Amino acid sequence: MCGIFGIRDNADAARITHLGLYSLQHRGQESAGIVAVSANGEAQMVRKMGLVSDGFEEDRIASLHGPIAIGHTRYSTAGTSTIDNAQPVFVRFRGGHIALAHNGNLTNAVALRGALEAEGSIFASTMDSEVIVHRIAKSRAAKPEEQLAEALRGAEGAYSLLVVIGTTLLAARDPNGFRPLTMGRLGDSWVFASETCALDIVGATIVRDVAPGEIIAVDAEGMRTLQFPAAPTLHRCVFEYIYFARPDSRIFGASVDRARRALGRQLALEQPAPSADLVFAVPDSSNAAALGYAEASGLRLEHALIRNHYVGRTFIQPTQEGRDAKVKVKYNAVREVLEGKSVVMVDDSIVRGTTTRGLVALLRGAGAREVHMRVSSPPITGPCYYGIDTPERAELIAANMSIDEVGRAIGVDSLGYLSIEGMLASVPGGPSGFCHACFSGQYPTQPPVDIKRYRSVV
Ligand code: AMP
Repeated sequence: MCGIFGIRDNADAARITHLGLYSLQHRGQESAGIVAVSANGEAQMVRKMGLVSDGFEEDRIASLHGPIAIGHTRYSTAGTSTIDNAQPVFVRFRGGHIALAHNGNLTNAVALRGALEAEGSIFASTMDSEVIVHRIAKSRAAKPEEQLAEALRGAEGAYSLLVVIGTTLLAARDPNGFRPLTMGRLGDSWVFASETCALDIVGATIVRDVAPGEIIAVDAEGMRTLQFPAAPTLHRCVFEYIYFARPDSRIFGASVDRARRALGRQLALEQPAPSADLVFAVPDSSNAAALGYAEASGLRLEHALIRNHYVGRTFIQPTQEGRDAKVKVKYNAVREVLEGKSVVMVDDSIVRGTTTRGLVALLRGAGAREVHMRVSSPPITGPCYYGIDTPERAELIAANMSIDEVGRAIGVDSLGYLSIEGMLASVPGGPSGFCHACFSGQYPTQPPVDIKRYRSVV
């Protein structure tokens, strides 16, 4: 998963992009990058492994000149975490440059890349995003938006994109609308960001979402839009509401906080825990869902787990041993809240079960008498091919065990998940218009055929 930010017509473009990336850090912590472009098309790039906060020195940002900039925070699957795969992708092209920042994954990346390689294309990274850049470069269309449109014809899967071709800033969203992308205004500047929290930090106001299937071009001639037919049904990622986006953002036109609270309330109705004394969240991603659960159940909301904010999301560790150790580094339990109590722990999802198992052990160690786990999403039974880094089925605990078995494996007294129907009834604009493939197995586009090869090029 990734975060993208872009701005045009601002003398401080790179610095504002840097600021915007701070608010998109949760969408990717492995690498970050910014490309800035001057009014006459000269471009410069900085890319670093690691966090935005320790990624860039002030003087390097100050050296990025020009009124146009795009930035990216990246979160990749294990094995592809290298500087070559940091974004924006940046290449020289017909005397100018192309820079591209991508959130999402192309499901037919293997075929697209194979076709380009057969014609002699050479790749500098293993990313599907580089495929789009090659296809832009091959286009003979006159206008940048037409070049991007040609490049995207035949691309399947998920893409929210920010691209600079020459001095034109382009924003695009796939016809299914899998990933969010919002447009805002900051004085005379146009701003684009994965989430509205990145507009807030730079002081921009929300204008609207980039529409599914839309390409927006902004340059010296002003703004133009080009609309592809949107898919008959949208497939916006429901997991953005459940886990990924920040609760202070509005995505897909609605508040993430309100969506999470509604999920929590519905969870309380479907999966009550009548014998419990209190409820608490696994901070921070399930805070709003636990609030909703407390509201609907009447249980007292407590802070029973304290999260160390200096440790990143646990999945960042590519090996299982690393992940296990990190649970304890990341969380501790509050004995004064838990001792002798029957408790409800609300989390937004269970993926491998690693974090959860570790947390339950912490709660028991701090004296909890009964642990009832409630999950504000349904069991995850399949991988995501549209940009969320859920592992393959073999590693997904609920794909391989019944709910009772999962409960025993993680060591809880009871386990209750939200139903698919309950989830879709709770998210704004539901029940249709969402991708829920990771829960339902209903993939809106053909999943990749050769998974191993696919994993090696995304
Ligand atoms: P686990 O117990 O190992 O299944 O991990 C579940 C935790 O991971 C939950 O607290 C989720 O908030 C979090 N989570 C869910 N999906 C992801 C993801 N794609 N990347 C990182 N963390 C995730």
